[in-house]
Amino acid sequence: MSPGERHAKVYQINYLRCIFCGLCVEACPTRALTMTNEYEIADDKREKLIWEKEDLLAPLRNGMLMPPHPMYPGSDHHNYYRGEIKESHPSQEVNK
Ligand code: SF4
Repeated sequence: MSPGERHAKVYQINYLRCIFCGLCVEACPTRALTMTNEYEIADDKREKLIWEKEDLLAPLRNGMLMPPHPMYPGSDHHNYYRGEIKESHPSQEVNK
């Protein structure tokens, strides 16, 4: 850990306030966050729309890399945001 590096004490997303803008995905330095196709989230209890870390974790699927990992060669964060990166490149597989 480098001096000055900060880590959140609490990991949660409040879906009562989230507008699905994707800025958190864009800002994540390790590409650990991603958008999904789930956007119709509703519940009868407000508390259930505040997702804790355990609710947000998803297993790695085949072809996914354990973050942090370098970006796909020749790509930038826009390619990740638009979901254009579909597979890993051999040069990224530093943590496999
Ligand atoms: S998508 Fe991320 S940055 Fe945007 S409102 Fe939701 S949690 Fe906040």
